[in-house]
Amino acid sequence: MASGLRMIVGPMFSGKTTELLRVLRKYAIAGYSVVLVKPSTDARYAVNKVVSHDGLEMDALVVEPRFTGLAKVSKLLYEHNVVGIDEFQFFEYTPDLIKFILDLSNERLVIIAALNLDFRGEPWEVVKEILPYAEDVKVLRAVCTYIDEQRRKCGRPASRTQRLLDGRPAPYGSPRVMVGGRESYEARCRKHHIVPRDWE
Ligand SMILES: [Zn+2]
Repeated sequence: MASGLRMIVGPMFSGKTTELLRVLRKYAIAGYSVVLVKPSTDARYAVNKVVSHDGLEMDALVVEPRFTGLAKVSKLLYEHNVVGIDEFQFFEYTPDLIKFILDLSNERLVIIAALNLDFRGEPWEVVKEILPYAEDVKVLRAVCTYIDEQRRKCGRPASRTQRLLDGRPAPYGSPRVMVGGRESYEARCRKHHIVPRDWE
């Protein structure tokens, strides 16, 4: 029986959800029962589905992004061999949430996809707290889409998520969670990740 904790981390547009769905499908094809969980914070596409940017989809169980949200569906999660959790950064960090995931991954295979950093380039606490426990971490990178004055795209591997407000870099003080797609976010390399301080 598969068990343990696997993590898939990276910025937006690095293919985290695609990778998560790919791995879950592989286990489903091998005859394992698979369940996918997503936080209610992420309402970008269909409510009860996880849809990757390139259109792959899978039914998902929507839970409140905190310990009690997972605890409520605990029985159902333990009824499956493999549990996938998408957008894990939206879960509220508490020690009992981490313990829940660790207990679950003692008996089941848990695969978590999460943003590495927020738009400010700072870690998400819940991701920081769970990451060291993973047996396997897959770090994905996107492609930097910064365009310079000569209209050339950077094209370096991107590890950061750039938030844009009306096409300009969002200031440090803008809210941490703002669900959006290509109109509000771009993948950027370190050099081109820009977070203006509000007083500038
Ligand atoms: Zn760049």
